[in-house]
Amino acid sequence: MKAHGLMFHHFHNDEHQPGQGSISAATFEDMLHYVGIDRFLSAEEWYRRALEGKLSPDDRCITFDDNLKCQFDVAYPVLRKYNLTAFWFVYTSPFQGSLEKIEVYRHFRISEFPSIESFYQCFYQAVAQSPYEKIVETALKTFDPDTYLVEFPFYTKEDKVFRYVRDRVLGAEKYYNVMDQMIRDAGVDIQKLRGKLWMEVDHLKQLDKEGHIIGLHSHSHPTYLGRLPLKEQKEEYETNASVLENLLGKKPTTVSHPCNSYSGDTLKILKGLGVEMGFRANMFGALASPYEYPREDHANLLKEMEG
Ligand SMILES: [Zn+2]
Repeated sequence: MKAHGLMFHHFHNDEHQPGQGSISAATFEDMLHYVGIDRFLSAEEWYRRALEGKLSPDDRCITFDDNLKCQFDVAYPVLRKYNLTAFWFVYTSPFQGSLEKIEVYRHFRISEFPSIESFYQCFYQAVAQSPYEKIVETALKTFDPDTYLVEFPFYTKEDKVFRYVRDRVLGAEKYYNVMDQMIRDAGVDIQKLRGKLWMEVDHLKQLDKEGHIIGLHSHSHPTYLGRLPLKEQKEEYETNASVLENLLGKKPTTVSHPCNSYSGDTLKILKGLGVEMGFRANMFGALASPYEYPREDHANLLKEMEG
């Protein structure tokens, strides 16, 4: 094994509904024990050792992506119990009032549908009634889910088909059109989600004050940041950095790459912004730069624990 972070996203409790991949406080605690509480470095200690090149293979750290309110409500109290600190990678558009689609759609999916299968079924019905029926039908004729997203072993065949249609066949704009139509058809008012999905400024300030490290994660969380034109990548991270600096009064020096998407140019942009260390979203590859420390997805760890 090599030194790596654990990567967490969604949590549930009485207030935050369970959804695909979400875990409870008890499961989170079990996972920390399974890895071994003593192996977790504080965020600051990990950062220091990483910069000095002194991480040992046993070293672990805890990381949270996407500034989710459920992380603060469910996971943060567990961290406090064990006196642990973590990295929190924050995309900043919600701090400017955006209801970013990635999280709104997830919430719609888990609150309006009894299962992921029933969501997929409704989604394909919506596609069939959209102008995109033919392109999706044609693309799926030659699609082989067994060869797609092989680096995510916990995705089902249906998950892969959906992601393929969403990311490769439709692309952002057409996918948004289909989803927004579904939300209108369901009569859901997404404005009611304000204040519920993401952390607010005071949460970040509290974490920062207690020794947690707040890092970059782009401004609007594009799915394929590494493939955007350079100018847009620059804007994403410059805005991200300046919003965080304004909120916390210090320059962010860490990053995790949203959807693990980055290029050599992305890393140059980050370096130019004063970023010193970062994380990938998987365990693959050698450590090619200080911006590519590996992380294990919590879903893989959970599988290992249950297996
Ligand atoms: Zn993310």
